Amino acid sequence: MSTSPDRPHTGLVVAIDGPSGSGKSSTSRGVAVRLGLRYLDTGAMFRAITWWMLRAGVDVHDAATVAARADEAKIESGTDPLAPTITVDGEDVALAIRAEDVNAAVSPVSAVPEVRARLLELQRETIREATADGGIVVEGRDIGSVVAPDAQVKVYLTADPAARAARRAAEEGGSDVAATEQSLLARDKIDSGRTTAPLVRADGAAHLDTTAYTLDEVIDQVVALVDSAA
Ligand code: C5P
Repeated sequence: MSTSPDRPHTGLVVAIDGPSGSGKSSTSRGVAVRLGLRYLDTGAMFRAITWWMLRAGVDVHDAATVAARADEAKIESGTDPLAPTITVDGEDVALAIRAEDVNAAVSPVSAVPEVRARLLELQRETIREATADGGIVVEGRDIGSVVAPDAQVKVYLTADPAARAARRAAEEGGSDVAATEQSLLARDKIDSGRTTAPLVRADGAAHLDTTAYTLDEVIDQVVALVDSAA
């Protein structure tokens, strides 16, 4: 990796994986801001394609139809960590992809190999562009294992289910914590059990349990891992 002071992290990829609500998004954005890197939320991409499927009237439990239509939506991700964006066919879907119908449908859609192949291509393209003149923090479930297995830094974040549900419910503006925990655990089960690119701790990933730490402390720990990899 380059050590030029102007572009200190050229070529750097930081892969952050973990289950829902483990603190991936806040941590990834915070690390990217501190280090002047781009930021890609791959979960938002899976949510965006799911939102499109629902709007198109596709039965999300019919894997063959989901597969057949996997290439139709045009999904674009803006990678500024201070203002990340996500659009489908030019429409801003940042809020819509956080709705309950998408929460309930995203894991079955994400288990379809054709959906993963389509988004993998977009994810790698975004990573290629970002690393050409800087670096990027990428968050998801399979970043260190499948999307960017050569990432210089890999982190696997976890937290107790109760802590994860409390954080996610607060992010969603005060949703019911018990219902949020059930929804997270249901998604974890599908994400961990699927055949293609399941949620796993990638080879070489540092495991950080964030339950007892503040966001700033977790960011400090990841920045320290990046510094030690430089
Ligand atoms: O990160 P977030 O909770 O927004 O992700 C939503 C869903 O997208 C996950 O539950 C999972 O089904 C899917 N996903 C995935 N692979 C990724 C990122 C997200 O399958 N790399």
